[in-house]
Amino acid sequence: MREFIKPIVVVSKCIEFSPCRYNGDKLSDQTVHNLKPFVEFIPICPEVEIGLGTPREVIRLIADGEKNRLVQPKTGQDLTKMMEEFAHAFLEELPDVDGFILKNRSPSCGITDVKVYSGLEKSPTIRTGSGAFTSNVLLAFPHTAIEDEGRLKNFKIREHYLTKLFTTTEFKKIKATQQIDQLNRFHKKNKYLFMAYNQKRLKILGRILSNKEKRPLEELFHYYEEELFKLFGRVPRFTSNINVCHHIFGYFSPHLSGKEKEYFLEMLEKYQEKKIPLSSVVCILKAWAYRFENEYMLDQTFFEPYPEALVEISDSGKGRDYG
Ligand code: SF4
Repeated sequence: MREFIKPIVVVSKCIEFSPCRYNGDKLSDQTVHNLKPFVEFIPICPEVEIGLGTPREVIRLIADGEKNRLVQPKTGQDLTKMMEEFAHAFLEELPDVDGFILKNRSPSCGITDVKVYSGLEKSPTIRTGSGAFTSNVLLAFPHTAIEDEGRLKNFKIREHYLTKLFTTTEFKKIKATQQIDQLNRFHKKNKYLFMAYNQKRLKILGRILSNKEKRPLEELFHYYEEELFKLFGRVPRFTSNINVCHHIFGYFSPHLSGKEKEYFLEMLEKYQEKKIPLSSVVCILKAWAYRFENEYMLDQTFFEPYPEALVEISDSGKGRDYG
């Protein structure tokens, strides 16, 4: 079983931590709940921090040309400046955080799906945007693992988020050491995971590491990090997972019986037809890595990119994907 470094994650405080929603509610959330032993959470409620009590009158985003304003229709209070000042001060004092989990649709914490109204009361929605607190987070942390609790209910999005979170957290620790042998080890054990994400970027990362240009270490780490963020820029394709499984299968194939090969290829086909999850196929490959005592394969993060205890196949039902 792999050991993982605990990422530091900022979370909207009303999710699992405090009854601080406008109506005095606290939200239960399975992902945040499950993550508690594996993550160092920094819970924050921006609305409470700017002095709004709980319970409180609702607030909303109002369009002001291209920009949005944060207002409380009942009192007519414009909270935009207060929220911006709070966000700046809070983000500046933050330790080196690894991720964010924020409340969807909230005018303060939502990431992309916050309703923006044309005016105060009884006015239509004219677009969606980022919450007043989160728009500052997005500017300050453009590459960090950030998601809202609503989207994290989708299995594939959750898997991608957790993979990026735990992998980039480990990379940051290695970057702090500036030791090339540690970066080489990191690259080696992530080979198949990176291949599943993007084969082209895996090659670029390999080229950076080979350092034909004789770059100084600091520069090399910088370029590697840039490419790593690009690699995690999108969820891995279904077909890439199949490709990686074929690669690993090819590795063990000379040592397998005809029946074993046949069974594995049948399972891979079932995965391809979306009849079984990827984990069913991966389990067979991992069992072979144990059987042949193959340390190189056992070390591959593709088999466990984030703590196994966090694997939950449940899904919101929206956009379910066996990828
Ligand atoms: S969504 Fe954000 S601002 Fe609203 S209650 Fe939750 S933590 Fe506070």
